Amino acid sequence: MTEESRGQTAAHIRDVMTTDGAAVNEQIRNLNANRYESVAAFDDYETCRERAREIKERAIENLPTLIETVTEQVEANGGHVHVATDGAAANRYVQDVLDEQAGETVVKSKSMTTEEIGLREHLAEAGADVFETDLGEFVIQLAEESPSHIVGPSLHKSREEIATLFNEQFDPDSPLETPAELTAFAREYLGERMKEADLGITGANFVLAESGSVVLVTNEGNARKSAVVPDTHVAVAGIEKLIPSIEELHPFLELIARSATGQDIAQYVSLLTPPVESPTLDFDRPDQPIDATDDDREFHLVLLDNGRTAMREDPHLRETLYCIRCGACLNSCANFQQVGGHAFGGDTYTGGIGTGWVAGLDGPDATAAFNDLCTSCSRCVPNCPVKIDIPWINTVVRDRRNNGNTPDAVDHLIDPLVPDQESTGLDRQKRFFGNIDTVLRLGSALAPVSNWALSLPGVDRLLESTVGIDRRRSLPQLATETFRSWWADHHEDPDSADTTVHLFVDLYTNYLYPERGKAAVRLLRELDLSVEVTPVLPSGRAPLSQGMITTATEQANEVAEALESPIAADEPVLVIEPSDLALFRSEYSKLLPTETAAKIDAGTAGILEYVSPLIKSHTEIESGASGEIVFHSNCQQRTAGFEEPTVEALEALGYDVRTTDVECCGMAGSFGYKSQYYELSMAVGDDLEPQVADTDVLASGTSCVAQIGSLTDGDEPPHPVELVERAWAEHRS
Ligand code: SF4
Repeated sequence: MTEESRGQTAAHIRDVMTTDGAAVNEQIRNLNANRYESVAAFDDYETCRERAREIKERAIENLPTLIETVTEQVEANGGHVHVATDGAAANRYVQDVLDEQAGETVVKSKSMTTEEIGLREHLAEAGADVFETDLGEFVIQLAEESPSHIVGPSLHKSREEIATLFNEQFDPDSPLETPAELTAFAREYLGERMKEADLGITGANFVLAESGSVVLVTNEGNARKSAVVPDTHVAVAGIEKLIPSIEELHPFLELIARSATGQDIAQYVSLLTPPVESPTLDFDRPDQPIDATDDDREFHLVLLDNGRTAMREDPHLRETLYCIRCGACLNSCANFQQVGGHAFGGDTYTGGIGTGWVAGLDGPDATAAFNDLCTSCSRCVPNCPVKIDIPWINTVVRDRRNNGNTPDAVDHLIDPLVPDQESTGLDRQKRFFGNIDTVLRLGSALAPVSNWALSLPGVDRLLESTVGIDRRRSLPQLATETFRSWWADHHEDPDSADTTVHLFVDLYTNYLYPERGKAAVRLLRELDLSVEVTPVLPSGRAPLSQGMITTATEQANEVAEALESPIAADEPVLVIEPSDLALFRSEYSKLLPTETAAKIDAGTAGILEYVSPLIKSHTEIESGASGEIVFHSNCQQRTAGFEEPTVEALEALGYDVRTTDVECCGMAGSFGYKSQYYELSMAVGDDLEPQVADTDVLASGTSCVAQIGSLTDGDEPPHPVELVERAWAEHRS
């Protein structure tokens, strides 16, 4: 990415934040808060997630059989099935159905699958009048825009904007203003269109193969009306919507509305088994509009492939097919909360999972405009009802994009000089951040001269134009004495120690923040432990975040080799940097052989995970005795579930601990340093700023420390181990 294209990306994000940002932020944060509340009150949430995941895995595995079964059953019911290889074939089929009816008017419910293939536009070009009946889709159709969210397509629009749109388009007798007036108008207008319609098109949340039933989950009831009012119903569904039978439906009905909007269940759950159980509505016979003897109904099920079979064969993109399109991953994404799908998404599919869909349907390069907005913060993972590893899909697609780059002359010169294992042509900004271990090692060897050089006038501008570090960011100071240099003179262990632990020396502790390493060593010794330290080990996190999977794998293997001996000796390896520990617990299973990854997972622990029980077993300090403290834990730490021991250790030492309430600080490793994302990063941080300003703060993640320093224009907060060590020493003295 050149400086110019970085500038264009920044300008686009800035524009979308200006036009959509406020409405998107308000709506999505509400949805996210509602989902947390609803899920917390649902005891069977994890059980349902497990079951839903298992059903989806099996359904995708057995997809060819399910397609055969549903085809036989729908035909036995009197309907028709068409398996469309691509969007053009699906559109042609639906148009043929409409032509056979000699029809002109079509009503359509919300369906991302029909958005994907441009069905409305296709039918309109062929001369049909097509009306979206979902309120949000109707607004988008009137505004001639694309959806900004897979569940709430028009949530980027304020009430005022929608009122202006309706008043301009329909010129009502008295201007429409309130939500009630706007909704009533749309209901009446669209109700009339439904009565006139020759064809009703719906999507399907699920298709039950055994009975040939279509399941529609909505809050407006318009999908059911679109299906049953016109004489002919066409349901268009991706082949991945098939599940075996009604037996498998339950966990999805428990999960889908909770995950989407925080409702226990959606307002309308319609199970239609057309045409047999859905007789025609006859508006000329108002006293008896439904008569089960009417047999002039027609039903067509269009099952869309459009690249899904290839996704099923792809070991990394396959998981995307488990998606039930609830939008929880979008709502829990800090970046998406600021910009919505008009910056973070393709034409149809948005957010982190949008990368999987768009890459699967159109190839990895089609995601170039938004794939890098996934920072792998991982906050979406525990919120996905079918447990899709969305960050990993984004990483793989990034890697594929990297490998598809066309190298230029400079790349050929740079390539032999850099230590990574990536192909020539890798974006230079990614190459810089993916090789941060080398940057820190060389910079540290020259400190303090390197710190002085970085402060010279014009250097910030040079870094921005060459490797895209935003000039408004302060760079961390390189330590003049690294942690490993300090360690060389501090080997003495307590005489009474009979247990040995190993401290994992990460890049940031060694080169930037040695104080946290020193505090960890002192604390462990105070707790009567013998301490060894590892060499300085790049964990693979930095290259992985840039989509440099080969380099990350090589670093993971080096870590595995270094940790083999202590783990084999049953000596715990303690980790200070939470993003590294989270890597060991999640992505290492993708980078290393299963057994090796499992051993590293079992043999490592967060520094405070390990010491917290020891401290709790010793101290008798009263709660609140040491004052108030705010703890901001790293996003990956929260996802991996090791935030709590830090809180417990601090509370045991007498602190009143308040944890911050944000999904991510906005820095997310290198993301916030990149010039094209600086403003988005700071906007995400705006939610954190009031929670950490003018108070005593601790932060565990290196990038969170830098972001809090920027947000507050103040000192960078210490790592919790530094405070715990000080408080423990005072308590013991
Ligand atoms: S990836 Fe998961 S959370 Fe995101 S829309 Fe799909 S099912 Fe919902």
